[in-house]
Amino acid sequence: MKPHLAPAEQVHPRLSFPWETPPATGDWQTVAEGVVWLRMPLPFGLDHINLYLLQHDDGWVIVDTGLGTAQSREVWERVFREVMDDAPVKAVIATHFHHDHAGCLGWLSRRFRCPVYMTRGEYQALFISPPRGSEPGWEFAQFYQRAGVPEARLDGFLKVLGASSFEQDVPASFTRLTDGQVLRIGTRDWEVVVGSGHSPEHACLYSRQDQLFISGDQVLPRITSSVCVTVTEPEANPLDDWLSSLHRLRAVSDQVLVLPAHERPFYGLHQRLTQLAEHHHGHLDAMLAELKNEKTTNELMAFIFPRARSAFDALMANGETLAHLNYLLGEGRITRRLSGGRYRYQRVGCDVEAPADLQVTHI
Ligand SMILES: [Zn+2]
Repeated sequence: MKPHLAPAEQVHPRLSFPWETPPATGDWQTVAEGVVWLRMPLPFGLDHINLYLLQHDDGWVIVDTGLGTAQSREVWERVFREVMDDAPVKAVIATHFHHDHAGCLGWLSRRFRCPVYMTRGEYQALFISPPRGSEPGWEFAQFYQRAGVPEARLDGFLKVLGASSFEQDVPASFTRLTDGQVLRIGTRDWEVVVGSGHSPEHACLYSRQDQLFISGDQVLPRITSSVCVTVTEPEANPLDDWLSSLHRLRAVSDQVLVLPAHERPFYGLHQRLTQLAEHHHGHLDAMLAELKNEKTTNELMAFIFPRARSAFDALMANGETLAHLNYLLGEGRITRRLSGGRYRYQRVGCDVEAPADLQVTHI
C-alpha cells in the first residue's frame, strides 16, 4: 500500500478560498479592515511567502519579513511608500525563526528602531547553526550513518545546508511573546496562540472579534509544513508536538478567515486541522505496516517518499521519516536497535517482544 494523498480541495470540498488568485509577486491586497496581505517573492520552488501588515495607531505592525535579500528589501521600500505612506513601522512580529519569515528582522528593527516580538524559543533558534562546510563534525556523520544514508549522498546534503545559509541578520534584542497573551494593535486585540513541531514555539495571531487567524506555517491550506528531526536534536519528537498542536488549535473558532504564510487565505480551519492530522496518521500506518520486517530510516524513506530524488527532497524526507519513527518509538509501537552502525526499526508484536523499559533513556 503506497500512501497517496489527493489535493486537499478534492478530498474536503469544504475548504473555501475567498480570493481566487493571489496578488502578483511583490504586490498586496487588503483582506480585512486594517489588514494587508503582502505577497513577498522567494527564490525557491515555493516562490512566495505571505506577510501581513496591520494598521496601528500612528504606523504599522508587520507580521513576518521575507528572506534577508536585496529583493525583499526592494519590495519593502515600495511598501513603505505605497502602502504605509511613509508612516513608521512600530513593531515587527515573527511567527517563527525560519529564514523566509525572519530574514529581515534585524534590518527592519534597525531602520525603524522598533521592537521585535517573538517567542523565546524562536528567538533562540535564530542562533542555532546547522552543520555545514567541509568538516561538519562527527554528529553529522553519525546521524546519517545511523539513518542508513549512503555516504555518497552526504556531500549533496552538505551543499543543501550550505546553500540555505542566508546571511544572518539577527536583532540584538526581542520582546517575548507567550501563549494566551493579547496584543492590542490599532483597535483590534490579537491573541497569541503558540504551536510546535514545525519549529519550537511558533506564534499565531487570533482576532476573536473579527474572526481572523494569522497562522504562519502552523496551518497551510494545501501543502503540509515540514516536521523534521535534524542533527541538532536526533532524539526529538516533533511529530508529537505537531499533532498535539493541531488538536489544541481547535480552540480557535472554525469561522475564522485563516491568513497563512503560503498559498491563499481560506475558510475551513477545523477541516484543515483534520486533514493535516490524517496526513501524518496515514504515514504512521503505512510505516507500521512496512515495519513488519526490520528496516533502516533510509529504507523506509524510499517507501514513504518514493519521489524524493534531489538532495534537498531527500534531506527533508529523511528528517520527516525520522520524525515519524521517533513518534512511534515514543508510543512504544516500534523498537530500535543499533546494529552495524545503523538503527534498525521493527514493529512491536511481530517477531520481537516490547521491551519493558520503553520509557527509560539509555545513555
Ligand atoms: Zn517555517
